[in-house]
Amino acid sequence: MQCVNLHKGARRTFDVTELHGAEPEGGGPNPFPTPGAEYRHRLARGEFALPACGDCERVHYPPRVLCPYCGATALSWRQLSGLGTVYSASVLVPREGESYCVALIDLDEGPRLMSNVVGVSPSGVEIGDRVRVVIAEAGDEMVPMFRQERR
Ligand SMILES: [Zn+2]
Repeated sequence: MQCVNLHKGARRTFDVTELHGAEPEGGGPNPFPTPGAEYRHRLARGEFALPACGDCERVHYPPRVLCPYCGATALSWRQLSGLGTVYSASVLVPREGESYCVALIDLDEGPRLMSNVVGVSPSGVEIGDRVRVVIAEAGDEMVPMFRQERR
């Protein structure tokens, strides 16, 4: 099946069977159907990593088969520091159960992702707080959440 790379003005086409995102470690065919599946697999084994572009070197989230900044397909998985800064924080108050903090986190490597800040009162999270990732169970999968670094 052919698809068009819209990032480069539809001048390049790819056979999607060749597009599996970042290269797997150790070579060989990539067993993951999507970059998101590989991202979740890595989280499940305690690894916080995202694809980095081989051309412009930027790290992106969510994981894609193409670099969203330059359209390159040469991606590799980069281990992240797990450190970030709170860009915004909201306290959600459910009808039942305890309040929790939903925050946008700017990772030190660049990407911004939505997550939870845990281990602190939800109203105790402030813009600019430095946070560190913790991989936590949510339903039947592992997700990145964040804890405040000591001030
Ligand atoms: Zn790029």
